[in-house]
Amino acid sequence: MLRESGGIGLLLNMESFTCVATSKVESKRMRKGIAVSPGVAIGTAYCIHEVFVHPGREVIQRQDIAAELARFENARKQSLHDVRLLQTKVQRQIGKEAAAIFSTHESILQDPALVGKVRTWISQDLFSAPAALAKLVEYYQGIFHKSRDEYLRERLTDIRDVVERLSSFLSDALQTGSDALTGSVIVVADELLPSQVVMLGSKAVHGIITQAGGQTSHAAIIARSRGIPAVSGVTHILRQAKTGDTVIVDGRDGHVIVNPNAEVLAAYRKLEREFVDLRDHLAHNRDQPAITADHESLDLMANINGIGDAQSAVRMGASGVGLYRTEYLYLAHTSVPSEQEQFEIYRDVVNAAPNHRVTIRTLDIGGDKSVPFLGRTQFEANPFMGWRSIRLSFEHPAFFLQQIRAILRAAGTVELTDEGKCSQVDILFPMVTNLEELRRLRAFMRKAEQQLRMEHKPYGKVGFGMMVEVPAAAIMIDQLLPAVDFVSIGSNDLVQYLMAADRDNPKVSHLCQPLSPAVIRLLESVVRACNSQGKPVTLCGEMAGQPQAFVLLLGMGLRRFSMSPAFVPSIKELASHISLPVAKQVLASAMRQKTNRKIHRMLTEQLLRLAPNLRPIIMQ
Ligand code: PEP
Ligand code: MG
Repeated sequence: MLRESGGIGLLLNMESFTCVATSKVESKRMRKGIAVSPGVAIGTAYCIHEVFVHPGREVIQRQDIAAELARFENARKQSLHDVRLLQTKVQRQIGKEAAAIFSTHESILQDPALVGKVRTWISQDLFSAPAALAKLVEYYQGIFHKSRDEYLRERLTDIRDVVERLSSFLSDALQTGSDALTGSVIVVADELLPSQVVMLGSKAVHGIITQAGGQTSHAAIIARSRGIPAVSGVTHILRQAKTGDTVIVDGRDGHVIVNPNAEVLAAYRKLEREFVDLRDHLAHNRDQPAITADHESLDLMANINGIGDAQSAVRMGASGVGLYRTEYLYLAHTSVPSEQEQFEIYRDVVNAAPNHRVTIRTLDIGGDKSVPFLGRTQFEANPFMGWRSIRLSFEHPAFFLQQIRAILRAAGTVELTDEGKCSQVDILFPMVTNLEELRRLRAFMRKAEQQLRMEHKPYGKVGFGMMVEVPAAAIMIDQLLPAVDFVSIGSNDLVQYLMAADRDNPKVSHLCQPLSPAVIRLLESVVRACNSQGKPVTLCGEMAGQPQAFVLLLGMGLRRFSMSPAFVPSIKELASHISLPVAKQVLASAMRQKTNRKIHRMLTEQLLRLAPNLRPIIMQ
């Protein structure tokens, strides 16, 4: 196992250096946000969705009017083509009602008054096309916002949707594949939608900065799973940074520096190199077993969003996939993927995953993610507490069955591991609240199996699991356990619901903390109940990859963890420094503390004592 590394030593030296270097920066170039994905990155800013952030700023020259009008017309045609395709596909696969939204969008794109306004602002007021679209949103906002009429407010959201689609064709190099994204790119956005992050996968994105979002927003989760340094909650950064600026993202402490001076740049370049070295160095333990200092075996699995992550889970030495978030499959598709498409993707993911072990979670849409073809959630006052996950799937039975069938079929394609063991596929249902839901889910499973049997389609047996992420389910866990084969604790949601603090709202991020006494107490009781009933339990929220939380979970008796692949090597290394009796003692003393600040401090001190060479990881 890795003990002392050159990379770590260098990093320690750089810590004090960073303070010196950053103190010389004019304060206005330096901004503070929430560190959501560790590491340091330097690159060229690429600002997206400026249309909503810089309304009315951009002006064109008179000789460019014709070209700008043509650019708008081109984007309009492409958008029309998009919505028509979506309409047909959604209608075929889900139904007329769900497809209706696209016919509304089609009418908006063809509305002479609306299109005329954009053209006039371009040709008479010399607005750029994105600026004219921003003005359009402002204009309709002025009219509709005052209205209490739900219907009118809905039209405003439709207009925003359409404008977003248009502006992505106008200015989003991520979609159009323009040359704007070359070299090392730092994406700067208000809030990165999951579908945009998916598209970032193939580009050289080295860092992400967002104005909104928090630790467990999906953009943050994806950034972590890709090992991309990210900082969120940097208010008004889009007013400060422009596309083309040089930007530093320091995902260790949440600093962002725009156009740094040469000295700071050189210092951070060194830091960036050292982070990459450290990461590569730790990844060398990929073939070592995951064991504690007293040789207790652990299951360190990976959270993935698709096949690329499954491959990086193998590279990082994960023992399997503890959480496959299937929603990214839908978000990356412009329309509903068919059962066959889903089956093939799941099968390929199982094939690529470590030991061909995959826990596939059914669609967890709603909350901060929506797919237009499954209906709207954006009018709910509390979307995270509303129509999301299985609540939404239940209302689309044909669609839900299609996903379950695809998962069962993927489980039926037997893959052999290097050791000759069979693949293992389990199904996991998100946001389970009560026993009635579990019974309904079982009925869906039975129906899917029955259909496949009748159709003579091969399928495999899967474990039936529930996520524990709603406090009601956590409290009633002893009564729910007999109805499931395994449990996975979704601490990202469990913490936000327990603390009544939105996981994506930087203003309440001090409350949405997994190390809060209330969270620790609840988690301890869930793990205890699962262990006493002999039901396998995993924790798949982001805290599984955080050193301070990891030691507590170990002390609680948890042996299965699922985290962003990039964190597996460092947690494996950390585990090798901690014995179970020590973890239990640390937990006992954490449970005596009354504030999360004290808990965090105590844990950090203990970890630094137990694994001093892992200081950069512990201090992240
Ligand atoms: C969770 O809530 O902890 C979880 C793993 O699910 P997600 O982050 O996808 O909501
Ligand atoms: Mg969740």
